[in-house]
Amino acid sequence: MLIGEIQTPVSNLYGAGKTTIEQLNRLGIATVGDLLRFWPRAWEDRSRYNTLSEWNAFHKLNVPVTIMDQQWFGYGRMKTLKLVISDSEGVRGELACFNRPFLEKAFPEGTKALVYGSFSVKYGAIQSSSFDIEKYDTAERRILPVYPLTQGLTQTKLRKLIEQALNSYARGIDSELPADVLNKYGYPDKRAVLFAMHRPASLEEAEAARTALIFEEFFLYEAAVGMRALERRGVLPRTPVRDNASEGTAQPAALQYAYTPLQKELLSRLPFTLTADQQAVTAEINADIDGTAPAARLIQGDVGSGKTLVAFLACVKVIEGGGQAALMAPTELLARQHADTAAKLLEPLGIRLAFLTGSLKAAGRSQLLQQLAAGNIDLIIGTHALFSAQTLYKNLRMVVIDEQHRFGVLQRSAIIQKGIDSGKKAPHFLMMSATPIPRTLALSMFGDLDISVIKTMPPGRKPVITYVASESKAEKVYYFIGQDILAGKQAYFVYPIIEDSDTFNLKSAEDMFAELTRDFPHHRLALIHSKVPEEEARTIMQEFRSGAIHILVATSVIEVGVDVPNATCMVIEHADRFGLSALHQLRGRIGRGSDQSYCFLLYGKNITETGMARLKVMANTTDGFVIAEEDLKLRGPGDIGGVEQSGYCGFELADPIRDFALLEKARIAAFEMLAAQRGLYQQEATNTANTDQ
Ligand code: ADP
Ligand code: MG
Repeated sequence: MLIGEIQTPVSNLYGAGKTTIEQLNRLGIATVGDLLRFWPRAWEDRSRYNTLSEWNAFHKLNVPVTIMDQQWFGYGRMKTLKLVISDSEGVRGELACFNRPFLEKAFPEGTKALVYGSFSVKYGAIQSSSFDIEKYDTAERRILPVYPLTQGLTQTKLRKLIEQALNSYARGIDSELPADVLNKYGYPDKRAVLFAMHRPASLEEAEAARTALIFEEFFLYEAAVGMRALERRGVLPRTPVRDNASEGTAQPAALQYAYTPLQKELLSRLPFTLTADQQAVTAEINADIDGTAPAARLIQGDVGSGKTLVAFLACVKVIEGGGQAALMAPTELLARQHADTAAKLLEPLGIRLAFLTGSLKAAGRSQLLQQLAAGNIDLIIGTHALFSAQTLYKNLRMVVIDEQHRFGVLQRSAIIQKGIDSGKKAPHFLMMSATPIPRTLALSMFGDLDISVIKTMPPGRKPVITYVASESKAEKVYYFIGQDILAGKQAYFVYPIIEDSDTFNLKSAEDMFAELTRDFPHHRLALIHSKVPEEEARTIMQEFRSGAIHILVATSVIEVGVDVPNATCMVIEHADRFGLSALHQLRGRIGRGSDQSYCFLLYGKNITETGMARLKVMANTTDGFVIAEEDLKLRGPGDIGGVEQSGYCGFELADPIRDFALLEKARIAAFEMLAAQRGLYQQEATNTANTDQ
C-alpha cells in the first residue's frame, strides 16, 4: 500500500479527540496517510550531552541529571512543583514545573532523567521552566523531529500521534518508485524513509531520507514530463540536459514564415517594427499552429522584451482560423492592463474581446459566460477564473499563460482539458515567462515543451542605471527623484510589507505613503498593494498610466507585468529583503521607454553578506539570464528558500534551483524507466533522437 492510500481517519488514533482532530485538519491532515507524510521541518539533535554549567553557551541543553529533591513554592492553586537536579559534575539546578504537578510522581528523588530545555540563571540558581524531561533509561532516541505546528497543538502531542501512526501503519508501506530505480541510485525504500524522517538514528540518516524524498518528487515530475513528450512527439527529451544551443542566436531559421493577413494588419498599425526575436518566435508559433501537433511552447523573454505582442499575434492567427483564444494573467492588475492593450490593438481588427476575473459580479458574469459558450467572444483575458468549472468555451484553440511561473504546473492539464472539452482537440498552449530560468534548468523542468527565447530588446532602450546605497542616503535619493518628476517623469517606491508589523522592523508601504506624501507636497501620490480593492486599483493604475499620478508607492504587486514607459525611477527600500528574481522583475518596470531610467536599491543596517552580494549583482547587470545564474550560485545548499520560494512547480520539499543536481539525476532515472518500458533500451533514444529544440 502507498502512503497516500491509507485513508484511515486520524480519529482512529488513540488520543486524537475532537480538538486534536480540528487542529490536525488545520494543518491539512485528515487521514493517517496525511499524518505520515507530514514531514518535520527540522530535527533536534539530542545525541550529545551537555552539563548545566554550559547554560550560557547553547540555546538549549541536553543534560542527564539526577533528581535530588522536590520542593513546592506558591500557594493554593498556584502551588508549583520545583525539581532540584544535579548533573554529572555535581552542579545543581532547578526545574520549575508550571502546570505539571504530575511530575512529582513520575520523577521522585533519586530518579535519573534526561532534561532538554533552555536554562538561565535566576536568583542565583541555574534554572529552567521550559524543558522536556524523560526517564534516562527510556530516553534512548536522541534525534527528535520538529514539526510545523498550529495554535494549541504541541510538539509532544504531534510526535506521539505520528509515532503511533508509524508503529501501527508504516510497516506495510510500499514505495512510489520502482525498487530497481531505488537500488540503482542507492535510495532507501519508502518505509525506511518514513522511519528515518520521523525517528532518525542520526542527523545524517534524516538528511539522507529527505534527499530521497526530494529525488522522488523530481522523479515523478520528470516521469510526467517524459510521458508528455512521448505522447506529443514520440521521443524523450535529452538527458542529461546539455546546454549546447548557441547562446544569443537560439532561434531556428523559421524567420521567413509568412504572417497572416490579420497579423499583417496588426503589425501595420504599430508605431514600431518587431524585433528580430519577436519575429522569429512569432514565426515559430505560426509554424506550430499550422503543424500537426498542438503547440506547447515556453516563451522566455526578459522583462520588457515585448512578449505581450507576441502573445497577441498568436491569438490573432487562431482567431482568424475561427477559434477562440484565452490569455491568463496571474493578477487582476496585469489582466486589466492586457485587456486595455488588447482593446487598443485588437478591437480595431474586429476581434471581440472580454475581460473576466474572479471579482466580476454575478449578472455581468453570467452574460459574459453565455457569450463565450456561444462563440461570440474571440479573445478572453483574465485571471484563473478563465478556467473555472463554469467557464465554457465554444472552440478554445489557444491558451496563453502570462508569467507562467506564477502558476503551478498542475493547472496546466486542467486547462488543456478545457480545450479538449470545447474543441475536441487539445488547444495550442503558450507559456510566457519573464523569470529567466537558466537554460539547463528550463530544459529539465519543461523538457516536454518547445522553448523559445526572446533575447533582443526593443531598440532605443537604455539599460537602467542602478545604485546601491544605505538607507541613510534616503533623503538624497528622494531629492533626486523629485527632480526627475519635475522634469515630467514618474516613479515607483517599493516596500517589502504593506503595513507595520511587530515581527519585522521594516518600513511599510502604508507608513511610507504617508511620509512621502509629506516629502513630496507638490506631487500626486497613490498607494497600491494586494489589499487595495480592484476598482480602486484599476483607477490608480489608469491615473498612473495617464501621468496624473506621479509617484506610486507599492509592494511587490507591481512586480508582474506593469508597463508604464514614462515611469523612469524606482526606489526599492529594504532591497536586501527581496530575492534576486523579484528585484529583477521589479526593476523591469522601468527602462521601458527611450529615456534613461534609474533604480535605487536601499539597504538597512543589518544587511547580510549574501544580501549585499545580491544587490551588487543587480548593480552590475540588467541581463536577466546572468542574474538567474548568479542567483543559482548565491543560493547555497541549506538555504531552504525562505521568503523567496522558487515556486516554479509547487514542489513540497524540493527546490529545483537548490537541488539542481538531484533534478538532473531524477530526470535520467525517470527517462531510463520510460525508455525501458517502451523497449527503447538499446537505442539510446534519449541521446540521439532529440528534437528538443
Ligand atoms: P514583457 O516582455 O515584459 O511582457 P511587454 O510586452 O510589456 O514586455 O512590452 C514592453 C514594452 O515594449 C511595451 O510598452 C511594448 O509596447 C513595447 N514594445 C514591444 N515590442 C516592441 C518593439 N518591437 N519595439 C518597440 N517597443 C516595443
Ligand atoms: Mg509581460
